[in-house]
Amino acid sequence: MNTPNSAQLFEESKTYFPGGVNSPVRAFRSVGGTPLFMVKGDGCHIFDADHNKYIDFCCSWGPLILGHNHPAIKKSIVEAVENGTSFGAPTIQENQLAKLIIENHPYLERIRFVSSGTEAVMSAIRLARGFTGRDKIVKFEGCYHGHSDALLVKAGSGLVTFGQSSSAGVPKSVINDTLVLPLDNLEALAACFAEHGKDIACVLIEPVPANNGLLLQTRRYLQKLRSLCDEHGALLIFDEVISGFRVGFAGAAGLYRINPDIITFGKIIGGGLPVGAYGARKEIMACISPEGDVYQAGTLSGNPVAMSAGRAAITELLMPNFYRKQTQKTVKFVRAIRKHLVEKNYPFKIFSIGSIFWLSFSDLPRISNSDQISSEKMQLFKRMFHYLLRNGVYLGPSGYEVGFVSSQHSEADLEQAAAIICKGIDHIFEDVI
Ligand SMILES: *Cc1c(COP(=O)(O)O)cnc(C)c1O
Repeated sequence: MNTPNSAQLFEESKTYFPGGVNSPVRAFRSVGGTPLFMVKGDGCHIFDADHNKYIDFCCSWGPLILGHNHPAIKKSIVEAVENGTSFGAPTIQENQLAKLIIENHPYLERIRFVSSGTEAVMSAIRLARGFTGRDKIVKFEGCYHGHSDALLVKAGSGLVTFGQSSSAGVPKSVINDTLVLPLDNLEALAACFAEHGKDIACVLIEPVPANNGLLLQTRRYLQKLRSLCDEHGALLIFDEVISGFRVGFAGAAGLYRINPDIITFGKIIGGGLPVGAYGARKEIMACISPEGDVYQAGTLSGNPVAMSAGRAAITELLMPNFYRKQTQKTVKFVRAIRKHLVEKNYPFKIFSIGSIFWLSFSDLPRISNSDQISSEKMQLFKRMFHYLLRNGVYLGPSGYEVGFVSSQHSEADLEQAAAIICKGIDHIFEDVI
């Protein structure tokens, strides 16, 4: 595989941006080598600056559930642009997208649009604190909620810990109110509420944790979160920036039939443009400015071009059987890979939910918290990743990232990709076993 143009562009970009990129994982640090510069996407395929073609399972890290360059999204963007790109005043497009979402989502009465997932979660936490009048928040090791200060924390040692910052530049005072728990651990949860229950404003969780491998939780566990929050007057926030409109139209809340107090969105909701959102029932959202006294604003919030892209995407997602087809296709793809793993007896599993999948590089039949991931074995991902690139399959450049299947991956594309992935697995185990 030849990538001289990408290599040259990267040399140049390093003179402009820290590490040559505008978001860290793009730099390929965890897989080595030079990041590929992309110039075009079409359906499930992407093309780099050297005209190499790949079947894309990164899908811009999740937003592109309808694949690249979807005709309906492209059309709605062009139509919106004809009338200007931004007003800083209310527009019809905001109403249209909100109506589609609220009328079709069982757990939302009001919504506020922002411009990224990070902003959505940051605002949701401020809202929970404003609503409850409490300061402490609970998050889980292995869940990612964007890069706002209070959430850039990792667990210390012990079951229930006040987190330690995972980034320089985050003052201790900011994370003093962030409690960090292990996922899928009822004992830690009970201990946390027993000790801090009356001070907890909210529990924040990715109900389908998909930013540190795919750490599927049980419905029972998520229900326990719901009931503990109810008992202690804390709010439950589902961060559905990945799972929203992905594991079903109503996301994980709909899938598990659990009604969270606040839901955050991002990624898919903007149809590939920068949109985030948070929503809740009326009484909670009434706390937001200008109705209430929790301040939150945005110059480009509800941007009409982005709203139009979102509306086009959401309209497609509401088509009958959209999610059933997505899941069926993904299950078939995952089964083909799993069959190979079993036949060859590789110590390696593949997990999926809806149209999300993850290769675990571990033999554990179930992985539900971050301690179960072996960072040493994850090293194998590097070889696998580069093998797949050479053979025309693009995954997110880290073994901790999940893969996404879009509506534009045909059965034939998926069969082809599964065959290449199986060979990639043979390749990495060649001299390991
Ligand atoms: C991607 C993501 C975020 C952050 O969204 P950005 O748009 O990157 O700011 C927050 N929470 C979850 C669960 C995510 O997957």
